[in-house]
Amino acid sequence: MQLADSSIDRPVPVPDEVSEGFWEAVKEHGDLRIQQCDQCAAYYHPPVPQCFTCLTSGLAFVPVSGRGEVAGWTVMYEKLVAGFEGQVPYIGVLVALDEDPEVQLAANLIDADPTAVHVGMKVTAVFETIRDGWVLPQFTPSES
Ligand SMILES: [Zn+2]
Repeated sequence: MQLADSSIDRPVPVPDEVSEGFWEAVKEHGDLRIQQCDQCAAYYHPPVPQCFTCLTSGLAFVPVSGRGEVAGWTVMYEKLVAGFEGQVPYIGVLVALDEDPEVQLAANLIDADPTAVHVGMKVTAVFETIRDGWVLPQFTPSES
């Protein structure tokens, strides 16, 4: 699902040489791609410069299902974080991916009831376009 709201004025990512592939994949393909080692198949997020297991730098951003479950969450009701004042209340989640639950993404859970969020809740990635063409992977409760 692609959501577009260029009026959302919030902080944008600041990629470095290791993470730029993640952000480029989201923007160019509109799906979630996670760094994976081409030798041992380990997934990494946030991106790393080399595999911690086999020490190769042969890492590529590969498509994943975008499905996972909530491993942790919080609901922000206070306007304490710069750039997010207009979005309260919002839900911050840590999502464990189905491909490897040890690989977890921090994002917002959108289109969800803040009182219904729980650890283990099944979620699916959606993509939110914000200012300057940046695309953010976010999550929404799974249909089933
Ligand atoms: Zn490896």
